Amino acid sequence: MAKRVAVIGSGVSGLTSIKCCLDEGLQPTCFERSNDIGGLWRFKEKVEEGRASIYQSVFTNSSKEMSCFSDFPMPEHFPNFLHNTRFLEYLKLYAKRFDLLKYIRFKIIFLVDQLQLVRETCFRASIEEELCINSKACVSHQQKLVQ
Ligand SMILES: Cc1cc2nc3c(=O)[nH]c(=O)nc-3n(C[C@H](O)[C@H](O)[C@H](O)COP(=O)(O)OP(=O)(O)OC[C@H]3O[C@@H](n4cnc5c(N)ncnc54)[C@H](O)[C@@H]3O)c2cc1C
Repeated sequence: MAKRVAVIGSGVSGLTSIKCCLDEGLQPTCFERSNDIGGLWRFKEKVEEGRASIYQSVFTNSSKEMSCFSDFPMPEHFPNFLHNTRFLEYLKLYAKRFDLLKYIRFKIIFLVDQLQLVRETCFRASIEEELCINSKACVSHQQKLVQ
C-alpha cells in the first residue's frame, strides 16, 4: 500500500510537494487553511489570518525561467517578469495540468504546534478532523518538519 503523506499548505511549496509525492508513488493529502491555492500569491484586499500575502502591485523579481517548476515551463506568451495575478495564473495552470486539486482539502488548519501523536504513525490534522497518516508530514513555508 502506498505511504500516505500530509502536505501543509497549497502555495508554491505545497503544490510541488503534492506533485513530487505523486511522482514517487506516494499518496498525498494537502491541508490548506484558506479556500484556494496559491499561498501568498493570491492577493486579497483583506488580510487573512495565517496566510502571508503580497501587495497588489507586486511583480516577480525572478525571471520566468528561474521561477518556473522544472517540469512545467511558463507559457511562451508570458512576460519575463510577471505581475502577481499572472504568477497565480501559472500556479493554477500547474495544478490543472497535474490534476492536483483533488488532493487538497481546503479550510483545514493543520495544527503543527499543537500536533499530537495519536499513535506512533498517526497525526491529528485539526480539531475537527482526525486522520491517520502512515508517513511523515511534508511541510511548506516556515513550518517545521514533523516526523
Ligand atoms: C513580496 C514578495 C515577493 C516575492 N517575490 C518572489 C519572486 O519574485 N520570486 C520568487 O521565487 N519568490 C518570491 N517570493 C518568495 C515567496 O515566498 C515564494 O515565491 C513562495 O510563494 C513561497 O511559497 P510557499 O508555498 O512556501 O509559502 P506560501 O505562499 O506562504 O504558502 C503557504 C500556504 O500554506 C497555508 N498554511 C500555512 N499554515 C497552514 C496550516 N497550519 N494549515 C494549513 N494551511 C496552512 C497558507 O494558507 C498558504 O496557502 C516573494 C515573497 C514576497 C513576500
